Amino acid sequence: MAKDYDVVILGGGTGGYVAAIRAAKLGLKTAVVEKGKLGGTCLHKGCIPSKALLRSAEVFATTKNHASSFGVNTGEVTLDFSRVQERKDSIVAQLHQGVQALMKKGKIDVYEGTGRILGPSIFSPMPGTISVELVSGEENEMLIPQNVIVATGSRPRTLPGLTIDGEFVITSDEALALKELPASIIIVGGGVIGIEWASMLNDFGVKVTVIEYADRILPTEDQDISKEMKKLLENKGIKFVTSAKVLADTLSIANNKVSIEAEVLGENQNYNADKILVSVGRQANVEGIGLENTEIVVENGFIQTNNHFQTKESHIYAIGDVIGGLQLAHVASHEGMHAIEHIAGITTEKVDDKWISRCIYSSPEAASVGLTEEQAKKEGIPIKVGKFPFKAIGKALVYGESEGFVKMIANSETNDLVGVHMIGPHVTDMIAEAGLAMVLDATPWEIAHSVHPHPTLSEVLGEAALAVDGNAIHM
Ligand code: FAD
Repeated sequence: MAKDYDVVILGGGTGGYVAAIRAAKLGLKTAVVEKGKLGGTCLHKGCIPSKALLRSAEVFATTKNHASSFGVNTGEVTLDFSRVQERKDSIVAQLHQGVQALMKKGKIDVYEGTGRILGPSIFSPMPGTISVELVSGEENEMLIPQNVIVATGSRPRTLPGLTIDGEFVITSDEALALKELPASIIIVGGGVIGIEWASMLNDFGVKVTVIEYADRILPTEDQDISKEMKKLLENKGIKFVTSAKVLADTLSIANNKVSIEAEVLGENQNYNADKILVSVGRQANVEGIGLENTEIVVENGFIQTNNHFQTKESHIYAIGDVIGGLQLAHVASHEGMHAIEHIAGITTEKVDDKWISRCIYSSPEAASVGLTEEQAKKEGIPIKVGKFPFKAIGKALVYGESEGFVKMIANSETNDLVGVHMIGPHVTDMIAEAGLAMVLDATPWEIAHSVHPHPTLSEVLGEAALAVDGNAIHM
């Protein structure tokens, strides 16, 4: 039997389930169709499980390598990787239960199955009826919504010829489920996911080589952050090969080892390891969801939308990884809320990408908001830059984590903040202050005069803000 809804959301990941909750709170009759698990990539294959593993790796490496510097004597420090995985799984399970409970609380109907958009039919003259092939195998459900949100997310991309076999050649999906750690690994791709895995596996004691096509790791970050991250991770033992084009057809597997060649500055080099982890970006899930029954435009693999996340079919919205841009969980959920508010007649401005914080949870962490120095120069913005190191921050010394710095960029004519780039301890928890400053159009002077408590790591932001005009106190 067909069921009517104000809004049906295709995909219950971070974008989809947050949109559903917002819709329910606004009084809209809402359904979510999810073929896997509520919470999507972020909860089951991304943000949360990877951060749980990163935390275990950090605790292990700190205890093993630095406990004695805190005056703490330990016996031999060993790793129980099955316990590490259990801990990760239990955090994910707890949060998954939480999302399920939120759906119940919001009286949101959840359909477990694969949804597909139908064209005009007996149910509706417009495309948008959703047919759900239920996981249970029961007869398909037919949902007739006034509005649809496509939030089908993304999946790992690979390189032509570099076939993922799940054993020797893996993506982050398989890496998260490893039963035991390899002795060595090659990570193809030195972007955010590649660097987080490199840092984590290295902290667990795995020999890591990162091969990156661009001439630097984290190529979309400020150059100073890329350089510092490379230096600090190299000091920990990670090997980086940049300006390197992996030659996928040279992949070979023998004696439980995998080997591959890369063209590095015109010369072919060979690399061997126990596994290869491919982290070269993510492609949108646009196939099999019935887009061909609509006027929706897909360009470069991503669904195209306007500033309110409407597709060419104005009652069908698309949000999150499936529309590209910054493929981040907080972006997906923010877009989901915006789309629902637009459906409900509450029109807000689309948040500018410049205001969105980007985080890298490696050890050290990195975080940024706004333009990089290179971008600002390219846009012709006259800039002044303040930099302040963690080594002059008391709390960083207390923590025993005093590497890294904050770089603050401001417009030298208007004093407006242009970008903030941080690398060092807990910067992912501190970048939101800079994000707020960007949204409020604060100047560095205003950041400095919000008076940062002492001793805290956040003092680094106040000092970097003063440094923009050459007024840092402790440097
Ligand atoms: P998804 O979370 O991918 O959800 C899409 C959902 O749609 C899935 O559950 C899928 O099963 C479902 N679906 C697809 N097709 C259908 C269909 N036809 N019918 C029904 N259901 C369907 N971002 C951060 O902000 N911070 C991080 O620390 C972070 N770490 C990450 C680490 C890793 C290893 C990875 C891979 C990603 C990470 N991300 C992180 C990115 C983040 O996970 C994504 O940006 C986010 O999950 C996107 O949310 P989404 O709702 O668009 O899509």
